[in-house]
Amino acid sequence: MNNLKGGIFDGRYSIILHEFYGDKANSTISFSEGIVQNGDDAHTDGTSSGIYAYGDTKINNVTLKNASQEYLVATMMHETLHAYFIAHPPSPIITDRNSRDHNQMANDYVCIIADALSELFPNLQYNDAISLSWGGLGYTSAYTALSKGAKDTIESTNINFKMGLNGTKCN
Ligand SMILES: [Zn+2]
Repeated sequence: MNNLKGGIFDGRYSIILHEFYGDKANSTISFSEGIVQNGDDAHTDGTSSGIYAYGDTKINNVTLKNASQEYLVATMMHETLHAYFIAHPPSPIITDRNSRDHNQMANDYVCIIADALSELFPNLQYNDAISLSWGGLGYTSAYTALSKGAKDTIESTNINFKMGLNGTKCN
């Protein structure tokens, strides 16, 4: 985790990651492991104070017990965006927070997350980084609009990295 954070400090990342992980971070997110409702990979709650967010993420240590590092980091980046949106709601009119956040991620953050993953994992194929960035966004309108071939690739890539069949093993 420290190494991953170190990577985030040094890399070309969005202002959001810097807001949470930079040396002068004003927002915070904490990660813990445990059982997550509905078998989701992770769940983030939190509070905000003005533009600052304080997120609390639980990572599912049952469903992700074999997950590769790439998959875990993609999940953490996804959850970091959920935390960010607590203080910066994309479309406050929509009350379903999850789908509101996910549509925003699908529209604006897939490439940002893919770039971040590529920087942390230089051996990761960019196509795989893009597929991992789509993880958890399957119900968005942007995802629905993708071709069947693209969706099949995204789904199989996510399964392989989640099951540890591809990517970097966790020790
Ligand atoms: Zn989500």
